[in-house]
Amino acid sequence: MDFQLSEEQTLIRNMVHEFVEQHVRPMADEIDRNHRFPEESIAPMAELGLFGFNLPEQYGGSGIDSVAYAVASEEMAKVSASHAMIMGSQCTLTTPILVKYASDEIKERIIPKMIAGEALGCFCLTEPGAGCDAASQRTSAVRQGDSYVLNGSKMWITNAPQSKIFIVFAMTDFNKGVKGISAFLVERGAPGAEGLSTGHPEEKMGMGASHTTEVVLKNVVVPAANRLGAEGQGFKIAMETLDGGRGGGAAMATGLAQAALDSTVAYTKERVQFGRPIAANQGVQWMIADMATRIECARLMTHRAAAAKDSGLPCTKESAMAKLYATETAMYVTEKAVQLHGGLGYTRAFAVERLMREAKLTEIFEGTSEIQRIVIAGQVLR
Ligand SMILES: Cc1cc2nc3c(=O)[nH]c(=O)nc-3n(C[C@H](O)[C@H](O)[C@H](O)COP(=O)(O)OP(=O)(O)OC[C@H]3O[C@@H](n4cnc5c(N)ncnc54)[C@H](O)[C@@H]3O)c2cc1C
Repeated sequence: MDFQLSEEQTLIRNMVHEFVEQHVRPMADEIDRNHRFPEESIAPMAELGLFGFNLPEQYGGSGIDSVAYAVASEEMAKVSASHAMIMGSQCTLTTPILVKYASDEIKERIIPKMIAGEALGCFCLTEPGAGCDAASQRTSAVRQGDSYVLNGSKMWITNAPQSKIFIVFAMTDFNKGVKGISAFLVERGAPGAEGLSTGHPEEKMGMGASHTTEVVLKNVVVPAANRLGAEGQGFKIAMETLDGGRGGGAAMATGLAQAALDSTVAYTKERVQFGRPIAANQGVQWMIADMATRIECARLMTHRAAAAKDSGLPCTKESAMAKLYATETAMYVTEKAVQLHGGLGYTRAFAVERLMREAKLTEIFEGTSEIQRIVIAGQVLR
């Protein structure tokens, strides 16, 4: 058992660290406050290969593993979780589906553009009536000759306003329940896709620079060749994709927590009350010890889930446990960090207030904490 990062994973961590410190940190607060999508980050992220994780080299991907992705996502989230969200929607929720289920023609045409950052993608599963209960899809896909006609609406879709590539889950047979869900590729701008539209970004508590909107499909016609996998395979595709996505969410949460701890360590060593740094108080030290211990544990669980995925081992339980533990750790640590920054923690003087707002999302998206517990219990009690 090796607990060290490989040379390649260390290089990636250092590369992302340098990128976020130089390019992202100067804008991190501004883009969050103004709810501004960081358009200027997309090309440099693509140049660094940050949209090519886990993708075959034949399409221009890096072939780099999920542990490296987790390391990159953690580094990114330390500075801007919105950037980590943008990368995650592309790398863990969209391109993997195309690699596994799209035709060769689609892969050759689209994946290189996604890796180059010329086409962003989004994962359209959630609907107004299908949140935690993702199987309750109401969007329909009706076969007409060599095409399908899609109607319905999705909500909370990350990257939707900026996306050209939409992975849409829809019912091809309402009588079959969960086995009636299928997955489709909808390309914005393609003939027949005129009825696809995206709404205004939601006014969220945090992650302001990652846009989340409704996606409406009105008589959107896609060629049958755009169906991803077989009819009825959609729910399985969504769930296996989320197994991978959850590892990214866990890594993002670990990064948020680490950034909050780093800020807290520096602040409590410097802030003097009662004639000594507040870090000299045992009560404060114990809080910091608990924060640091939980972060180590979250990171280990995240890397273990990613390593299991890379080895082709089942990782449903491991990913769900990592996501649950890391995201609850992010909330625990960021809340303590705000507390230990005192009044300043409640202002925008330090990033900890933003980190706390960002951490809350990680307990909700890609399956809430309650859903992770349902998944884990299902695996443990089998
Ligand atoms: C910023 C953001 C980005 C997102 N990005 C995407 C995206 O890119 N693509 C996408 O498809 N979706 C996305 N989502 C949607 C997200 O996955 C859902 O919000 C989430 O699955 C919860 O669904 P819901 O909001 O409808 O909550 P609900 O399902 O209404 O749940 C409300 C509460 O009830 C609890 N609950 C529900 N059922 C149970 C149960 N059986 N037992 C115990 N507790 C239960 C939940 O855990 C939660 O606490 C995003 C959401 C947000 C906020």
